[in-house]
Amino acid sequence: MIILDGKALSLRILDGVREKISHLACQPHLVVILVGDDTASRIYVNNKKKAAENTGIKSTIIELPLTTTENELISIIRELNQDNGVTGILVQLPLPEHINKNKIIDEISPKKDVDGFTPENVGRLAIGLEPYFYPATPQGIIMLLDEYKIPIEGANAVILGRSNIVGKPMAHMLLKRNATVTICHSYTKELESKIKTADILISAVGKKIVRCKMDRNNSCIVDVGIFRDTNGKLTGDVDFDLVSPSCGYISPVPGGVGPMTIASLMYNASKVY
Ligand code: NAP
Repeated sequence: MIILDGKALSLRILDGVREKISHLACQPHLVVILVGDDTASRIYVNNKKKAAENTGIKSTIIELPLTTTENELISIIRELNQDNGVTGILVQLPLPEHINKNKIIDEISPKKDVDGFTPENVGRLAIGLEPYFYPATPQGIIMLLDEYKIPIEGANAVILGRSNIVGKPMAHMLLKRNATVTICHSYTKELESKIKTADILISAVGKKIVRCKMDRNNSCIVDVGIFRDTNGKLTGDVDFDLVSPSCGYISPVPGGVGPMTIASLMYNASKVY
């Protein structure tokens, strides 16, 4: 069994991004908008700023109070869309309940949408056109699969979870690479039999859900989930000790998809349209 070392690959990708930026005529500038004072969101935003600065991307955090209205947020995004000095815009999710997330995402210029969440980028991906940006987590997973030369074409790929940020774009990206894709969710029947027969299993649920031995000893398991167990320890969706002896490749938590997501986001933030 081989560990998919996302930490090591992410460092190489970040080196590549740094090198690319050092040759650019204009420095990319990522603006991250944070509304409210959610502790986890603040940590994520600060990590993104740190990663951007480490790779030579200028970064600005716009911190807005919880009382910010939808219209106020929209007018800030519109100004950033017009600002030629800003190359990437990211609105940290979740947003407060009084703000319609989809309406806000729809305001971001698709050519500055480093998260790849706008309807235009999602639609381009869905119809097989090149989006301006691919969503960071699935793009990072594809980079990880390619690094370890996991065959995607013709593979039986099973995705657990159908979120807009992981499951759905992952399905489109694997389809684009000619995998046969099954998407599972909380209504899926006979989940275990679907999991066991996967060549590539991507689990993005947020619960310890993969707890069976795999049927194929060359299968590849990518654990996207990240949460704290009852002892407060960071863990993923996959019961690593039980599952890992029965598969060919597996990503750890932490050290797998998490660092790849950040590297993939920086790869996006280095693009200038
Ligand atoms: P999400 O919005 O939290 O949704 C979870 C998905 O899991 C839903 O589609 C849900 O189905 C499905 N699900 C729930 N219970 C299930 C069950 N018993 N059987 C099968 N499917 C079930 O998803 P997300 O935002 O993609 O996050 C998922 C996990 O990935 C979280 O732990 C998150 O922290 C982590 N994550 C990590 C990274 C990273 O960089 N490492 C990035 C993104 C997310 P329904 O649609 O039917 O409700």
